[in-house]
Amino acid sequence: MAVAAAGMAGAWGRPVLAAGDEPAPNAISPDEALQRLMDGNARYAANAPMPKDYAAGREARVSAQHPFASILACADSRIPPEIVFDQGPGDLFVVRVAGNFVNDDLLASLEYGSAVLGVPLLMVLGHSGCGAVDATIKVIQQGAELPGHLPGLAKALEPGVQKAIDAKPANLLDAATTENVRANVARLQAATPVVAELVASGKVKVVGAVYDIATGKVSMI
Ligand SMILES: [Zn+2]
Repeated sequence: MAVAAAGMAGAWGRPVLAAGDEPAPNAISPDEALQRLMDGNARYAANAPMPKDYAAGREARVSAQHPFASILACADSRIPPEIVFDQGPGDLFVVRVAGNFVNDDLLASLEYGSAVLGVPLLMVLGHSGCGAVDATIKVIQQGAELPGHLPGLAKALEPGVQKAIDAKPANLLDAATTENVRANVARLQAATPVVAELVASGKVKVVGAVYDIATGKVSMI
């Protein structure tokens, strides 16, 4: 099965590691990648980010990218992943959509990140006060009608949100946000053939987390 991902990498572009190459800068373990993310978030939350030189590495970035984590985050303007994790250009492979859920196009992007670019960690990142999750709760509980293409988005969030509603939690929005992250972590872990295979081989880990807008802190769930 490992051949499938390698073959796809060849078809999509440059393989992660050609024979004779030095290991890529992002050839680290999923756990190390997670530690790097959480250390960056601790700096951000403490308002003590690393000094940034955006010109440094520009030339190297022309020919390659070596992101060490993929982040599936909400489109909400308050949670820019590079800032929240105190990272620079080329560090994170970011996919954003309101409600941070996986569909086939977003999955394809994440597959590219891990199979071709060698990203070892995928994080689904929900956040406090998510309008997309809140709207989905109102659709389910009150039959709210959403305009434009939003009904399709609410439909995508329904499995996790419904699970939270069924559990009758004290804080439904928080619980629904968490369950939505869990549902999409599970979907990614089971996403055959590419991500599921990389997860099974231990090369890639999928984790879920929630960002608290009030504190700036990311908590694993
Ligand atoms: Zn949101």
